[in-house]
Amino acid sequence: MRTDVAVIGGGIMGCAAAYYLAKEGFEVVLLEKNAAVGLEASGRCACGVRQQGRKGALQLAMASVRVWSSLPQELEADLEYVRTGNLKIVWEPEKAAALESETTWELSQGLAGVRMLTSAECREVVPGITETIVAGKLCPTDGMANPMLVVPAFGRAAARLGVRILTRTSVTGLLTLGSSVCGVTTDAGEIEANYVINTAGPWAAPFNEQAGCFTPIRPGLDTLIITERQPHRFTPFVGFGWWGYILQPKSGNIILGLEEKTNEAFSTQVDYAELAIKARDMIQLLPWLGDVAFLRAFSGITEYTPDKEPYIGVMPGVSGYYVACGFSGQGFCLGPMVGKIISELVTGREPSVSLEPFKPDRFATDQIHREPL
Ligand SMILES: Cc1cc2nc3c(=O)[nH]c(=O)nc-3n(C[C@H](O)[C@H](O)[C@H](O)COP(=O)(O)OP(=O)(O)OC[C@H]3O[C@@H](n4cnc5c(N)ncnc54)[C@H](O)[C@@H]3O)c2cc1C
Repeated sequence: MRTDVAVIGGGIMGCAAAYYLAKEGFEVVLLEKNAAVGLEASGRCACGVRQQGRKGALQLAMASVRVWSSLPQELEADLEYVRTGNLKIVWEPEKAAALESETTWELSQGLAGVRMLTSAECREVVPGITETIVAGKLCPTDGMANPMLVVPAFGRAAARLGVRILTRTSVTGLLTLGSSVCGVTTDAGEIEANYVINTAGPWAAPFNEQAGCFTPIRPGLDTLIITERQPHRFTPFVGFGWWGYILQPKSGNIILGLEEKTNEAFSTQVDYAELAIKARDMIQLLPWLGDVAFLRAFSGITEYTPDKEPYIGVMPGVSGYYVACGFSGQGFCLGPMVGKIISELVTGREPSVSLEPFKPDRFATDQIHREPL
């Protein structure tokens, strides 16, 4: 088979890149090892479309939020995207001071409307939360969308533009010619392509190594606990720093999110003993949760780079090969803009956001990160 562009992986990055490339007129084949797109982290994540608290990716997140605002019309689909705001809450005075510095920096970077809240204001926004909280920080333009709707919507919109989505097809390696990448090998045969896009999420690093660049990526495990549906309790996505986060999307279920664990086995196994401890902690912070039934839990495989910033762009000295991987817990928010940026790069345009913090070769000579992370 021959095509203009072969995309490895049908998560949010691969589907968004395929969509925007097809919009530019490219013939695109997207290869996904699972039975459908969006079955890994991109479809199992916690909905957050968040700008605040980003470091290197703040400008990218702000640009992506601008794309999100018209994404339902663009993809002709209801994505349950709502600007609910994102609230970070802290218990320790020194952490409140850190939030204040973060606010000052983010305002200086153009993140309008982000502001500190007092303990009493936080308790108004999240009724019933313990009085021990010291302060909060609210970004009103942050929000949430339904991950189970977003990736399939990108896939359908891409397919309408002619993208061939080959599911149950695993990419096994790259086809190379000198310093050019000119296609992929799969378990169903070879595909020659002028351009290859690596959006394989936690599985992306070996392809980059084959292209000649070391990009450390450590698989992680993030877990969500889902409660029974509740009447409306609170609006924003609420982050608790050390603990994780809590939100109530349109469905009314409360979602509790546990942050990053190491996951060398690339497993999606839920650790129920740990969940029980975390749920008890959470009930102490938000006592009304003690009367709410917990229905189920599931995990997704995330991926982390040493500086927790993604790899986006080209490999120096390699032609025909582009990467967008290593999203370190930020990829759902960033996905739509990253898809656009990949199409800008392939068409030879300047990316509309600087990719300086995301250079794929930034750890290429770093021996420290050659051992397991
Ligand atoms: C519980 C949880 C909560 C999260 N919460 C948030 C949040 O609130 N906000 C946020 O912005 N981010 C969040 N994230 C992170 C976010 O989900 C990821 O950063 C993002 O989905 C990464 O997208 P991706 O397309 O790069 O990778 P993935 O979604 O992992 O997609 C990669 C795809 O490539 C396919 N693939 C891999 N290897 C091959 C191969 N050899 N051949 C063919 N196909 C292959 C995989 O099957 C997969 O479908 C969360 C993640 C989890 C798990």
